[in-house]
Amino acid sequence: YQAKHGGQPVAWYDPARDDASTDRLALLAELREALAAGEQLSLELQPAVALGPVKPVRGAELAGEITSVEALLRWQHPRRGRLAPGQFLPVVEASELMGPLTHWVLDRALGLAAGWRRAGLAVPVAVNISARSLAERQLPETIDELLGRYRLPAELLILEITETVMLSSSPVIDDVLARIRRLGVQLAVDDFGTGFSSFTVLTRLPVQEVKIDREFVAQMSDLPKAEAIVRATVDLARRLNLRVVAEGVEHPEQRSALAELGCTAAQGFLFHPPMAPDRLSAVLRERRQVQRRHLRAEGTG
Ligand code: C2E
Ligand code: MG
Ligand code: MG
Ligand code: MG
Repeated sequence: YQAKHGGQPVAWYDPARDDASTDRLALLAELREALAAGEQLSLELQPAVALGPVKPVRGAELAGEITSVEALLRWQHPRRGRLAPGQFLPVVEASELMGPLTHWVLDRALGLAAGWRRAGLAVPVAVNISARSLAERQLPETIDELLGRYRLPAELLILEITETVMLSSSPVIDDVLARIRRLGVQLAVDDFGTGFSSFTVLTRLPVQEVKIDREFVAQMSDLPKAEAIVRATVDLARRLNLRVVAEGVEHPEQRSALAELGCTAAQGFLFHPPMAPDRLSAVLRERRQVQRRHLRAEGTG
């Protein structure tokens, strides 16, 4: 109803909207608690594998070498159940909790990467960074401090930034990215092709990697236009000397098409799903053993 006060409408009461905002506030309050307790939040890890010519190993189906591992946030909510990032990140992104959450993710991801390295299984870890966090001037110092605490070489951290974020060319974000890059941290453009000026992003910002959005990968076998976009992106990335990683690869035909186009690496359910840290360690150990057997078979290991 329209509330009247002195003949003037002062507010529209919209129950649906009101519910939504109370819900948002509740979610944020719950996340604040989860961050403090640190038990409901966790990371799953999804490897990316090299698509280059991989020598076959007798008796082993070599899925390709793992080039990096992406950290994906999970929230096991006591009442709402298991929440995917899409179910809560948009709300968090609009709040001041994004900073603490990003810090939590970086801390956990770098701790895991340091553990793999100690076990002789060093692999770069990729962390997704939201727009709001990139606008925080102290982010480079935070990252530097965490790298130091875990004694991790900066090259073992990749920050994934969605293309749409990079488009909002703000001097603050550009400065933050430049300072992070100077630390030696690698930068990747996530969801490439979904923004409006994909190519500008590549020339303006100091990135080392491009991740082709999974929509293009999904459509490339049916839509010539999607295939053309993938082809052009791979070409461009190679000319600019960037790694190019395809997201969301689910079918063997997609893998071979991407390999043929010269795509550097790929990620998707075809190779590895996102998995818990223990499982990932087991996968890394297994890969190392396959590699060793391979070297012995060649007589070089
Ligand atoms: P993204 O960075 O593009 O991550 C890829 C998403 O695709 C992940 O969804 C992953 O589980 C999913 N995926 C991987 N392989 C396949 C496949 O073969 N097929 C299909 N259909 N999907 C696949 P998830 O985990 O739900 O994450 C969604 C998005 O949430 C991420 O997209 C990323 O933008 C964001 N995100 C995740 N973790 C974090 C985080 O710690 N911080 C921030 N700021 N964003 C995060
Ligand atoms: Mg990502
Ligand atoms: Mg992506
Ligand atoms: Mg994507």
